[in-house]
Amino acid sequence: VYALADVDAMYCSVERVFQPQLRTCPLVVLSNNDGCVIARSAEAKQLGIIMGQPWFQVRRQWPGVAVRSANYALYGDFSARLLALASQHTPHVEPYSIDECFLALPAGQAAQAARQLRDQAARWLGLPVSVGIAATKTLAKLATTQAKATGQGVCDLTRATPAALAALLARTPVTGIWGIGYRLAARLRGHAISTAAELAAADPRWARRAFSVNLERTIRELRGTPCIPLAAQPPPRRQMMHCRQLGQPLTRAEDVAAAAAGFGQALAARMRRRGLAAGTLSVWLSSGGDFYRGPRIDVQAVQALLVPAATAGIFAATAAALARRMWRPGYTYRRVGALALDLIPARQAAGLWGSTQAGDAVCAAIDAIITRYGPGSIGLGQAGIKQPPPWATHQHHLSPAFTTRWDQLATTWLTTATDILMQQGRSSAG
Ligand SMILES: [Mg+2]
Repeated sequence: VYALADVDAMYCSVERVFQPQLRTCPLVVLSNNDGCVIARSAEAKQLGIIMGQPWFQVRRQWPGVAVRSANYALYGDFSARLLALASQHTPHVEPYSIDECFLALPAGQAAQAARQLRDQAARWLGLPVSVGIAATKTLAKLATTQAKATGQGVCDLTRATPAALAALLARTPVTGIWGIGYRLAARLRGHAISTAAELAAADPRWARRAFSVNLERTIRELRGTPCIPLAAQPPPRRQMMHCRQLGQPLTRAEDVAAAAAGFGQALAARMRRRGLAAGTLSVWLSSGGDFYRGPRIDVQAVQALLVPAATAGIFAATAAALARRMWRPGYTYRRVGALALDLIPARQAAGLWGSTQAGDAVCAAIDAIITRYGPGSIGLGQAGIKQPPPWATHQHHLSPAFTTRWDQLATTWLTTATDILMQQGRSSAG
């Protein structure tokens, strides 16, 4: 059977692990540049704060709400820990999103494994995890929603009576089904299908003809026939992107080029961490979406690299040159992106084209210094200046990278542990 483990309000829950003062108050996490709400604690949801609501509105309307800037280093690390935990229960684990993973478990042991996983996540990671179990992935998704709604944390639909399952499907709108978005839901309403039960009763062959093979699979999965297998290894990455809304809009060519160079370096560093090299680099510049007034510009340019690389210097210089080539006066630039294409394993690149040792040694030194002293401690050109440049993303409410930076390790718990030992009258030498 399939199980889906899902962290409740992931970003907020992770923030609360090392910051107990956040555990009892309404808490929101903001998007890049602290623009709008991308995660809400249960208390924040109760207040009526909605997803995507601009922070300036929330701050004005609910002055008591606690806030943090998105800390992806921290969330990503906890995501990896949850995955490691899940992998102890079964080798068949599919990471689905930063806060969710599917597991394939033997039918008889699923419920017990789910309760154990939930317990371990709470004790070892400090995270609230809900688990849904069912015969198919689509039903497991539904079971997880149910596990949260009932507050029981685990919902095993394989043990539900047919009548109970039918009742659940009857009260679930089609938009609550995995893979069915608002647009598809609107089309289905045209065929008098608005609940999961009505969709499950539809003819799968008709669904394939009128819609897609995906909808046919969804119908069969709702009926309990597995059609969507656990994805094994994710396919190798073909491209990698670094794209940001700029902290401050830019107009001058040198600033736009500097931002592109900085993004190129960040992209190169990520590729080196994953042991990849790129054959092609692309950069785009944008004046921003419909929200902004003024003349619009959206341009992209591509440059093939002489040999596949992930060196900071090559990426920075190429990205800056592309940005300069596309820059036009009279526009305001709010978004810049860098995209690495035609990725291959770096080792393969070295074997085919010979080592680019000079650049590699510089990169290794930069990586080591950044690991030790933090981002901004060294870099090429403008990205090496410690004072953040004007285009840097601003995050005024960022919590420390408690688990991935030596200089930001949580220390409050060590104090607490010492206190406990003292209270128990034991020597704290241990
Ligand atoms: Mg979640």
